[in-house]
Amino acid sequence: MTSWHQRATDLTLPSRPVLGGRPVEPRTDATFTSVNPRDNRPLVELPACGQPDVDRAVTLARTAFEDARWRHRTPGERGAVLRRFAELVEAHADELALLETLDTGKPIGDTTTVDAPGAANNLRWYGEAADKVYGEVAPTGPDALATITREPMGVVAAIVPWNYPLIIATWKLGPALAAGNSVIVKPAEQSPLATLRLGELALEAGLPEGVLSVLPGEGATGAALSAHAGVDKVTFTGSTTTGRRVLAAAADSNLKGVSLELGGKSPQVVLADAPNLDAAAEEIAWGIYYNQGQTCHAGSRLVIDDRVADEVLARIAEVARDLQPGDPLDADTQLGALVSAEQQARVTDYLDVAAGQGAEVVLGGHAPDPAPVAGGSYLVPTVLDRVAADTDVAREEIFGPVLVVQRFDGSEAEALRLANDTGYGLAGAVWTADHGRAERIAAGIRAGVVYVNCFDVGDLTVPHGGYKASGFGGRDKSLHALEQYTEVKTTWRQR
Ligand code: NAD
Repeated sequence: MTSWHQRATDLTLPSRPVLGGRPVEPRTDATFTSVNPRDNRPLVELPACGQPDVDRAVTLARTAFEDARWRHRTPGERGAVLRRFAELVEAHADELALLETLDTGKPIGDTTTVDAPGAANNLRWYGEAADKVYGEVAPTGPDALATITREPMGVVAAIVPWNYPLIIATWKLGPALAAGNSVIVKPAEQSPLATLRLGELALEAGLPEGVLSVLPGEGATGAALSAHAGVDKVTFTGSTTTGRRVLAAAADSNLKGVSLELGGKSPQVVLADAPNLDAAAEEIAWGIYYNQGQTCHAGSRLVIDDRVADEVLARIAEVARDLQPGDPLDADTQLGALVSAEQQARVTDYLDVAAGQGAEVVLGGHAPDPAPVAGGSYLVPTVLDRVAADTDVAREEIFGPVLVVQRFDGSEAEALRLANDTGYGLAGAVWTADHGRAERIAAGIRAGVVYVNCFDVGDLTVPHGGYKASGFGGRDKSLHALEQYTEVKTTWRQR
């Protein structure tokens, strides 16, 4: 097989917005550069779509919605198109995976086994679900028949971050299209390439023209969509700061629906009786270091009983030693580059702040020397021990390969207090052999996803989303995601 390096050199990179399914010339001269964090060299110049392109995409989407070319297809027909879309993603999986690796620095071994197949699976799952969701009949008296049905909302804008571009785009595209909406995707400026290619495949799958657009751009493109009077719904995944802006723009414009999937600071609560500490430590290490620590629900805080802390940290250090950053284009690399030089600097700044606030760097804390590829954005797995609960690194999302350790003295109440001492509430885990304590702590953690004696497992059948500052207005994944993209209609018939 040709090496990934050669294939990267030979690859044609998408460089135009996809309007209604077709790559077209943008109506803007503004551009931004897609950079490969593997070596921080530029990949391609892309248009930074402004108001004229946003207006164009909204008009196409609105027209398609009003003339019902998609929403009036039967659910079974819409499902068949989504399943063909999934097959096309599989047929182009290597290309999509390579685009994703070039844009994000993720190891090619991950994008080929997780991101590209995950995107196909997401489209297929919602394609299969499209004709299996029923409405309700209300329990009225004999003189009435009242039905509760779900209708597509109209024009959906999906604003997506850079950490799992294909997976998150398809978490949104799958249910939004299955429900009959038109969709405009705004990928993150760090990672537009695979999503643009995805958008080009939709017509071939049989999606009618106009129904799907992909607009590359920076924050201003997302802001224009959030404020647009012709958009009925914004589904956003990204930082809590931007999420607040999206919500404010929706409130100030047409009160469009808003769903936000935001940041996290998820606790891994380890009690002294945790079964198999070795295996737990391995999962805890992967739970923070996978994807270079750039996962919204990463288990970034280890809340651990002091009596087992040293043993677990020693094992995490062993796992981390085998998890050294490598060239993202090498098939056996397990840890790639951070998404950008800015992100690397942000994480490094946090390490400086942590040192100033009394945290002990017991593992890592620096870039690999030499870097796997010169000029790239790499950091080694890092552990900060004895982090005080009121410090920035205990409270804020670092979004890099940094595990923060908070020790407690054996009290279950103290463990739970520390676990919940955060403004976020995306995920959490408890490790214990005692079923009663496991249930109490799992129920007590204020988060949308809780794991018991495991971490980051699961599939599309369960919802993903957060409490508190981690989420707002709906969930991704599972049949619950359809609620994000449908209005509830009551039809009352008096007999
Ligand atoms: P970000 O908020 O900077 O950007 C996300 C998207 O919003 C990008 O497409 C960006 O261009 C766009 N954007 C920027 N300014 C905007 C504005 N004013 N209006 C509308 N859109 C705007 O986030 P990021 O740095 O790309 O992603 C990292 C963040 O995403 C982390 O906080 C992470 O936890 C979070 N995240 C959450 C989940 C989840 O499901 N909860 C999943 C993945 C990532």
